[in-house]
Amino acid sequence: MQALLTKLDLAKFPFTTEASEYIKSFNIEPVELARPELLPILERAIDRIKQGVFSGKISAELTQEDVDILAYPTALMLISVIGDDRARRRFALAEAKRAYQLLRDELPEKLLQVSRGSFGWDARIDDRDVGDSHFEFALHFEDYVRNSARIRDLRWKLVNRVLSEGYALLPREDFARLLEEEVQARVLDRTSITGLAVPPELEKYVDPLRSIIRARSQYLAADEMPRAVMAAAMPPCMRNLLSLLQTSKHISHMGRFAMAAFLLNIGTSEEELLKMFKSFTDFEERIARYQVEHIAGKRGSRRKYTAPNCNTMRTHGLCVNPDELCATITHPLTYYRRKARTLFRGRRQRNFSSRRRE
Ligand code: SF4
Repeated sequence: MQALLTKLDLAKFPFTTEASEYIKSFNIEPVELARPELLPILERAIDRIKQGVFSGKISAELTQEDVDILAYPTALMLISVIGDDRARRRFALAEAKRAYQLLRDELPEKLLQVSRGSFGWDARIDDRDVGDSHFEFALHFEDYVRNSARIRDLRWKLVNRVLSEGYALLPREDFARLLEEEVQARVLDRTSITGLAVPPELEKYVDPLRSIIRARSQYLAADEMPRAVMAAAMPPCMRNLLSLLQTSKHISHMGRFAMAAFLLNIGTSEEELLKMFKSFTDFEERIARYQVEHIAGKRGSRRKYTAPNCNTMRTHGLCVNPDELCATITHPLTYYRRKARTLFRGRRQRNFSSRRRE
């Protein structure tokens, strides 16, 4: 295949095989990044991480091509070294979204080169209309299924796609969206090695970044909390479990079950729950999804589970810091509903009083 990627493209798509080859040609050792002439690379990498982790969005704007290209592997190295799994996942998602934003505006030939050359997809350009729809690509169904599996929208189910001799026909936008999934998986894969250390010369740059990420860890976890849930109405036992989750501490199987059943029963969606559970160090999406769907009554016995009652919670050492309201109830869900009602009435009363004063 004719090489279509220019240096500008490598800056846009630094995850590609071509970019890796180009990066290797510089032969820069990590310790050298502290040299004054290479500091812009380190600074751009740190900026990339901050944008990805804290705002969920990495700017697609390019500064200097070589700096942008080299900042990418540097950022991967730094986020691995920092070792915060939630930050790593947010960064991978932001890198993938940046790639999607740029890919969807590219020519089909370029997308094809990225998909085949860097990810080994069995794909081809297939410009045709079927009914009212216009397609530009044909992608082998195995590559399609592998990359669409994590996208929950029903539109992405294979049965809802136009197929032609084992290939899914796709518009450019959808082809780019599937590449986004590949990019995210690649970033996660390249940053999954733990226990790495940077040379002492780089510590003074990495330490402040690690500290900011640690300091904002609570905020990042709150960002992933379900919106519909009234956090202030949580019983002490669940508040304790959520705080263990937010700080990536160990939670027993019973604790995980209690928290999942409780949250599903107060309106948290399965997707929101899975997002929260990603901070478990032993998180495995396929298993976690099965368990969550089982508790939600969508698998096995098809029975939706409720959270354990207070006696069972006590037996398993999960009843922590019970308060006055706890003395009047026997189930964490009763606690939540009563407290939520009280808080809701209080809010309504305050709104009513302030309207009367106006
Ligand atoms: S009494 Fe029930 S709601 Fe209160 S802390 Fe114990 S388990 Fe939780």
